[in-house]
Amino acid sequence: MTEILYLENAYLKEIEAIVTHVLDNGVILDKTIFYPGGGGQPEDKGLIISDKEYSVKGFDKNNRGMVHLIEKGLSVGDIVTLKIDWEYRYQLMRHHTALHLLSAVVNDKFENTKVTGGNIHFDRARLDFDLLEFKKDMAQTVIDDVNRISKEDHEVSISFMPREEVEKIPELQRTTVVLPASITQFRIVTIGNVDIQADGGLHVASTREIGEIKLVKTDNKGKGRKRVTISIV
Ligand SMILES: [Zn+2]
Repeated sequence: MTEILYLENAYLKEIEAIVTHVLDNGVILDKTIFYPGGGGQPEDKGLIISDKEYSVKGFDKNNRGMVHLIEKGLSVGDIVTLKIDWEYRYQLMRHHTALHLLSAVVNDKFENTKVTGGNIHFDRARLDFDLLEFKKDMAQTVIDDVNRISKEDHEVSISFMPREEVEKIPELQRTTVVLPASITQFRIVTIGNVDIQADGGLHVASTREIGEIKLVKTDNKGKGRKRVTISIV
């Protein structure tokens, strides 16, 4: 199995790894820093470097580990350098963390509001909320709060928790996504005393790193889906 280094440290930009399996469409490595996508956060871009550079075209889950999709050329036992497109990834981490603050503020202002969808891009990010309405001036108030909180420099920390404990914390049930029963150990992302989520994605280490965000737009996507789109200024 591939050791997944980004789960505990999202700031690894470049590492050495060993090719453990070669498949028709790519390679499996002993460890990786590449995020394969999920939870609304897109997959990483980057390179696998040996005597030549292989552009990583995507990822495939495999029972022996994550397949990094690249063209042929590498062999089992090759020592390679993994290098992620850090500018792209860091922007996703900032947007992702901003969405946590957004959902925390909305939950605080409009009691028990569920998040019904979300997506993260390089240049923007959005969340859908189970609200009857979410007008532009309401959204702007929320964004102002997010900016105030992010400046307070809250630490973002990662921990791991068994399912029984996760189920006892109501704040962890904020999204409507049902977590598969097969998962017994959860990764928990805590932002100071502001937010706590069961979450496999990648975040910045402090809310100050998010910088200032702005409201891009609000959309009514139907019942239970009032959409707020933000972007980092
Ligand atoms: Zn997250």
